[in-house]
Amino acid sequence: MDNHSYIHFFYFFKMNHKKNNSFKNQSGKDRNQYKIMVVDADMIGIMGGTGVYEIVEMGEDIEKRVIETPYGESPEISTFKLHDVPVAFMPRHAKGHANPPHMINYRANIYAMKKLGVDQIIATNAVGSLDLAVKPGDFLIPNDFIDFTKTRQFTFYDHKTVHVDVTEPYCPNLRDILISSGDVIGEGVYVCTEGPRFETPAEVEMFRRLGGTVVGMTGLPEAVLARELEMCYASICTVSNYATSIAPGKLTIDEVFEIVETKMKDLRTMVVEAIAKIPSGRSCQCKNALNGAEVENSIEPEDL
Ligand SMILES: [Zn+2]
Repeated sequence: MDNHSYIHFFYFFKMNHKKNNSFKNQSGKDRNQYKIMVVDADMIGIMGGTGVYEIVEMGEDIEKRVIETPYGESPEISTFKLHDVPVAFMPRHAKGHANPPHMINYRANIYAMKKLGVDQIIATNAVGSLDLAVKPGDFLIPNDFIDFTKTRQFTFYDHKTVHVDVTEPYCPNLRDILISSGDVIGEGVYVCTEGPRFETPAEVEMFRRLGGTVVGMTGLPEAVLARELEMCYASICTVSNYATSIAPGKLTIDEVFEIVETKMKDLRTMVVEAIAKIPSGRSCQCKNALNGAEVENSIEPEDL
């Protein structure tokens, strides 16, 4: 058999093989448990904290919803229209900052957004800077991340093998829109720690040497879970302080709050401007993230 025929044979085999197994995997689980009934479409999601919540009050037709997911209930999500664009705002930590970063139900949060019809997410994250040139009060749109979380539920695919590609961990199109919507630093590496404690000086030195620009506790696994459900995701990081031992002086917690407070208006303006610029169709590859990512019948690459 020449190469060409072999390829045809392979695809024929794969297609038929797939057909016969389309509803059950090896363990007999219903594969369609991953199919989500989407209520709406083309909705823009915002995930953030209290300072961003005020965007909801700028919208019309505000509704509050709690979404049931296989991972538990979502926090109360506000849906509204902003300049005729349907938007969903989710307070990541639930009401009143109830859940610390390591206790956030990231899977329920992202699944609920998908179920609502959100296909593009703008996340906002507070971070510490690992680089003297990136100052408190700056905004940074990360283009890459390093994951130092430890105990979180970090994937939707526990019952089938899906290796999602993160060559571009954040949606390039959404990043471009955010970069053009405000006074921002256009790239940097986001390091995510487990928390809730802050980093030690040795950890900060390690993150810096590894190429980290900023450090936070909430950006992961959110970004990966969004990719696993083929959603676009990008983050605006607000630098609230220097990470320990980076700055010559130390900021008090009051100074940190003051910086964050004064920057919230700019942050909201940036998010609103970005929403107005987001096109309804998506031309990036995020929507095809699962193409070729699943290993059929759970054959691991090392078995091949
Ligand atoms: Zn995208």
